[in-house]
Parts: sequence; structure tokens; C-alpha cells
Amino acid sequence: MTAPEFCAICHKKKAKRYCPGIRASICPTCCGTEREVTVDCPFECIYLRESRRYDERKPGPSPELAFPDIEISDAFLVEHEQLIGQIGYQLLRLALENPRTTDNDILGVLEKLVRTYQTLASGIYYESLPEEGGQISIFREMKKFLDEHQEQERKKGSVAPLRENDLIRALVFLHRLATVRSNHRPLGRAFIDFLRETYPQGARKEEPRVIVPGR
Ligand SMILES: [Zn+2]
Repeated sequence: MTAPEFCAICHKKKAKRYCPGIRASICPTCCGTEREVTVDCPFECIYLRESRRYDERKPGPSPELAFPDIEISDAFLVEHEQLIGQIGYQLLRLALENPRTTDNDILGVLEKLVRTYQTLASGIYYESLPEEGGQISIFREMKKFLDEHQEQERKKGSVAPLRENDLIRALVFLHRLATVRSNHRPLGRAFIDFLRETYPQGARKEEPRVIVPGR
């Protein structure tokens, strides 16, 4: 008879399931409480997938949405569907290229982009840079992508060039979508997961992630 294997996290309860995040067996309680909190869960973990389905069914409290004074109409969403889709795709691409990116990082980047374009719209050039290191490179890449997009629109001499306010609205819409979709756990990636489902062509297989203790 072999001794029961204990959970690698609490060392108290019996280990019942294999955790691909810490590559050890853990108990269901720790799986639930530590998932995307201290454990960096890979997208394909079956328990993570199960929790996503559960979260989608469970109506949580409505989160507070940022930039409440910015109105986004259905007509706006229809008219700018393509731009919103392109921004969402870029966010997914950058999140997967930088595998430690969380929903909180995406929210931080979107917020700073909104603030930067709001300042620009008022005639001042000032970048509201994120403070977190990992967000800065994503912010810069996104800013470059959006500036190039604006430049292309100008060159095309579009009948109705994209106004800064429309760009701000598109970013605010994505910020709200991310707020609603995120599970708001410190390492949560439910919104990034949502983007993977929305753009399966951008969701290449995740590289095995290096576990860095005490991140
Ligand atoms: Zn445990």
C-alpha cells in the first residue's frame, strides 16, 4: 500500500487532480482558490476550461465600467466593427507573444491608450505610459499599430477619416468587453481566452511556459 499523495499546494488534503500549472497533483479546493491567483494556468487545462464554462453560466454582479461619460451606440459598433476586430486581434497576438500577459495587463494597456488619445485629441502630445513593465511593450506596439492605421486611412483619403473620438470609443468598448469577460483574478486570462475563441486563426498553440516562482 502506498501512502496517500498530498496536495502540492496545501500539503493537507489528498491530491486528486494533476495541475499542469505547477506540474504536480493538487486538491480540488486549492485548484479552485489558487486558479489564476497564484497558479499560472495554461489555457488547455481541463479544470480551467470547466471553470470558464461555469463562469459564463453564473451571472455575477455587474462590474463597474470605466469611462462612464463615453457613450457607445449600436450604430457605432456596426460602423466600426472592422476596426474593433483589428484591435482585438492585435491584442490577442501581443498577449500570446508575451505569455505572461494577463487580462489586467490588457485592461491597463487599453486604459492608457484611451488616456493617450484623449490627450492627443485635446492637442497635446503626451503618452500615458503604463507603469508595469510587461504592459509597456504591448502599449508601444498597440500605439504603433493604431498610428499606422490612422496614417493609412489618411493616405486613402477616406471620405470619412477616422476621428480620434471614434478611435477612443473603439478602445473604450474593448476595455468594457474585457472588464465584463475577465474573472478579475490576479493572473486571470478569461478575456484573452475569449479573444482566442473569437480569432482562432490568431490562437496558435501556447508555448510551454517557464515557471518563475514568486512572480
Ligand atoms: Zn490543496
